[in-house]
Amino acid sequence: MKQGEKNGIIVGGGLVGLTAALALHQKGIAAQVFESVEEIKPLGVGINLLPHSVVNLSKLGLLDDLRKVAIETSSLAYFSADGKTIWKEPRGLAAGYEVPQFSIHRGDFHMILLEHARQRLGAENIKSGHHFADLSQSNENVTATFIDRKSGDEKARVTGDFLIGADGINSTLRQHYYPTEGAPKYSGQMLWRGVTEMDPFLDGRSMFMAGHNDLKLVAYPIRKESATRGKSYINWIAERRMPSDLAERQGDWNELGLLGEFQGEFSDWDLGWLDIQELFENAISIHKFPMIDRDPLPKWSFERVTLMGDAAHAMYPNGSNGVSQGVLDALTFTDILASSSNITEALQAYERARLEPTSKIILANRQTGPEQVMQMVHETCSGHCGPVHSCISRTILEDVALKYKKLAGFDRQSLAPSK
Ligand SMILES: Cc1cc2nc3c(=O)[nH]c(=O)nc-3n(C[C@H](O)[C@H](O)[C@H](O)COP(=O)(O)OP(=O)(O)OC[C@H]3O[C@@H](n4cnc5c(N)ncnc54)[C@H](O)[C@@H]3O)c2cc1C
Repeated sequence: MKQGEKNGIIVGGGLVGLTAALALHQKGIAAQVFESVEEIKPLGVGINLLPHSVVNLSKLGLLDDLRKVAIETSSLAYFSADGKTIWKEPRGLAAGYEVPQFSIHRGDFHMILLEHARQRLGAENIKSGHHFADLSQSNENVTATFIDRKSGDEKARVTGDFLIGADGINSTLRQHYYPTEGAPKYSGQMLWRGVTEMDPFLDGRSMFMAGHNDLKLVAYPIRKESATRGKSYINWIAERRMPSDLAERQGDWNELGLLGEFQGEFSDWDLGWLDIQELFENAISIHKFPMIDRDPLPKWSFERVTLMGDAAHAMYPNGSNGVSQGVLDALTFTDILASSSNITEALQAYERARLEPTSKIILANRQTGPEQVMQMVHETCSGHCGPVHSCISRTILEDVALKYKKLAGFDRQSLAPSK
């Protein structure tokens, strides 16, 4: 860690931990990242970076790199299972935002962050193979103990001015302060996440969701490189209600899924412009992950320690907001800390700024967020609608979409350049 008035310890070298490291470095605040896994690899499948996070990633100088690899999403559409349109809206630049909305492979985004973090902070300050185990605080500082996750042997004891727990949905930091919380909450929905390279659907830059709460399909292309060859690298999520399958589960991002567990449920689906069975059968990979979240917390900041990203507010993926909220945490935290001379007060101010908004999103996502329009049609439609559903009025659909954008902070007004 280099000199500077403040120096921080970041637990977790995932998307949010590395974003926080870059943001702190930009403001001249030293930080070291400690990641549990031995080697940080480009794992996962697709994620969305909504305009409010892209504005902030742009401030960190990452826009050009994102543009090189990601798809600039042009629209989001909702369909019923028979392929009829419920709602369609432009996204990103097409919707008048100053920056694009990106659909990107999580691994591609992770590697962009990692490369910049190593270059800017110095590779020696991004330490893998360091699993956070314990901490102690005094009036002057915080000391964290890291172990080798496999052997349990102590690897380092590090002292800093503050510590950020960005160690994901199964956060050890969160468990340290909430030891009786237990496993994440299971929604009753199982998700199979896959990627398939095939011919583009719609305009090759669109995201769609189809179905309803019991059976849903989400898909969007995520890699520019495939697009330059006339193909789409399509991220897809098949979601099926399986309430009794498991009551409690940690959620393992690396668990493999099987076609037979969900393919048959979609056998009579026909969207007309995408061969769903081809999408499933030609998958490069399929992973299985339950839809889980955690209850909003009453408190994130404990003197010199605070929580960030999924460790603070793991939420259902409805609304595609998880990582974007973590990026907002990182930039908000940094701005507050950089302009404060008192670390514990800064951590309290960060909590005041971010805990309530993200708690509201957790709860809204439990009601399926903006995706509720699909269930509304499913429950309402008599079957007499034409190719575009008219069973729910456009005003109501617009209201659902706008309310969620406002709640999550990415309505156009909130992101107007003057703000
Ligand atoms: C392997 C993996 C694959 C994923 N795939 C997807 C996906 O396909 N789609 C999607 O929407 N989301 C995915 N996610 C989750 C997604 O990254 C987060 O929901 C979101 O980006 C918030 O980021 P985060 O940094 O808070 O959490 P994460 O990105 O989960 O990062 C947390 C990091 O903390 C590390 N960590 C955990 N415990 C400790 C500890 N005790 N000490 C030190 N480090 C620790 C983890 O190894 C991880 O690198 C994945 C997460 C992981 C870890």
